[in-house]
Amino acid sequence: MDERMIRKLHPDWRGAPNMPSYEAARASFSWEAAERELAGLPDGRGLNIAHEAVDRHILEGRGGRQALRWLGRHGERRLLTYAELSAWTSRFAHVLAGLGLSPGERVFSLLGRIPELYITALGTLKHRAVFCPLFSAFGPEPIRARLQLGGARVLVTTEALYRKKVAPLRGSLPELRHVLLVDGEAGEGTQALLALLERARDSYTIGPTAPEDMALLHFTSGTTGTPKGAIHVHRAVLAHHVTGTLVLDFHPDDIFWCTADPGWVTGTSYGIISPLTHGLTCVVDEADFDAERWYRILQDERVTVWYTAPTAVRMLMKAGEALPRRFNLGTLRFIASVGEPLNPEAVLWGQQALGLPIHDNWWQTETGGIMVANYASMNIKPGSMGRPLPGVEAAIVRRGPDGSVEPVDTPNTEGELALRPGWPSMFRGYLHEEERYRKCFASGWYLSGDLARKDADGYFWFVGRADDVIKSMGHLIGPFEVESALLEHPAVAEAGVIGRPEPTIGEVVKAFVSLKEGFTPGEALRRELLAHARTRLGAVVAPKELEFLPTLPRTRSGKIMRRLLKAREQGLPEGDTSTLEASP
Ligand code: ATP
Ligand code: MG
Repeated sequence: MDERMIRKLHPDWRGAPNMPSYEAARASFSWEAAERELAGLPDGRGLNIAHEAVDRHILEGRGGRQALRWLGRHGERRLLTYAELSAWTSRFAHVLAGLGLSPGERVFSLLGRIPELYITALGTLKHRAVFCPLFSAFGPEPIRARLQLGGARVLVTTEALYRKKVAPLRGSLPELRHVLLVDGEAGEGTQALLALLERARDSYTIGPTAPEDMALLHFTSGTTGTPKGAIHVHRAVLAHHVTGTLVLDFHPDDIFWCTADPGWVTGTSYGIISPLTHGLTCVVDEADFDAERWYRILQDERVTVWYTAPTAVRMLMKAGEALPRRFNLGTLRFIASVGEPLNPEAVLWGQQALGLPIHDNWWQTETGGIMVANYASMNIKPGSMGRPLPGVEAAIVRRGPDGSVEPVDTPNTEGELALRPGWPSMFRGYLHEEERYRKCFASGWYLSGDLARKDADGYFWFVGRADDVIKSMGHLIGPFEVESALLEHPAVAEAGVIGRPEPTIGEVVKAFVSLKEGFTPGEALRRELLAHARTRLGAVVAPKELEFLPTLPRTRSGKIMRRLLKAREQGLPEGDTSTLEASP
């Protein structure tokens, strides 16, 4: 949406007046200067994520401020100040020391969004061990695979999750020495975490931490294949911190809600680290998505900055515009979204239904933090992921026949989105997959695996994942454009577009569509949607086939799994479905 359009809809909109313009921020930016905003460990002992996120606030007199505001599934509340969070994470670090865990060894969590998850994450980092979160809804096999690949030494989980999902496969995990239960009693092969924490001292001196020490192991969403374990280091905190200011417009009194689960990178980088380094209050909701509950949280907790995902936005859209009008969302100042392309329709909906545009931004598990964004201080172009972060060089590149890559300068040319390595939250490898890591680089660029184009103003537009792009009659068609056109139709809630292999033309564009409440699938509607797409996109790009589904297959992090739609269409094996969301 350009500025004129925003002003028409929202005459008071002023952008973010306190922020430097994008150009000014880019021109004056350097990572060295940004690093001065971080405290560093006392006495020059290095840089540690947990010190920046927790302990520095105690030293700087902010210990009384609320760090976590936890909302339980059934209306319970638990508040933790920075001082309390510091004490609990210190206790946890002592527990790890008591178990004989060495820095660099892996601590996994398999927990819902409860305070113990945040204590485990930050306590692990204090001890300089490596934190690896697992999504609590994973089944036994994906859990086993990740614990094994990651060489887990310690697992923090609940009694119920342990009994159901881990105990049966414990025998195949000889490296897993300690299982700490947040609720259960000590038993065979398990210990009660609470008893250990209560015995531990509540202050802990973080040992010397080199910025390049491994801090986090994060598995990718598995949208395009087998999930990869991306390695991140303590220095990443610099990027988390900087993007908090530049992209999410954090101010000291903000109440921030990141709806992502820490089992995915967004829930750790922005659900834990970034807001805490800024001393903000983080809302943590234990429950799953529910439109009414979410609006109530925004209202009652007086959320000011909100970071969510397109899948959630689409579900809110499905629930209608009347619902948000029943709530007072007046404290909300900034909304951002990540994880999938945000369709222009969704940006517009934000403006109409919530009174604020939604700022799309792009990044990956591998990049550790936001790389391309619609900044608070610049005009949103709906459907675009925005412009690169100051300090980050991004380009559209083409691969030559010899495997080398070169940037393409002509605006609006499609190619692979590439980044110049060197930003602090850049992954340092895929654990035990050297070859897969090596393949991500060519001619001094990191290749993202996403196709995009860059317009004359320097905004990047997502076209599709390299694996998802459709080749039809000699044309390359990005599924996102087709899906966005379908989403403009009032009946459409979600759309996933694939190429169905066809010998004569290569691939036929086929759409899968789920409908909003109040609409029923039928031949007339099918024809209407195909006609709508043809008018919007032209005959070459528009889908030729359209099938209704009650819901589309999604990863647990909320992304449409086009590879699965395609495999099912062809009657092929479904491949790795460990991250597939259970069908409702
Ligand atoms: P895998 O690598 O295992 O296939 P994944 O790529 O989905 O899974 P993540 O690292 O969670 O794993 O997701 C990053 C990807 O999500 C990006 O490469 C991109 O394809 C998509 N993505 C994230 N944000 C955006 C956005 N704003 N617009 C378009 N696509 C996005
Ligand atoms: Mg990926």
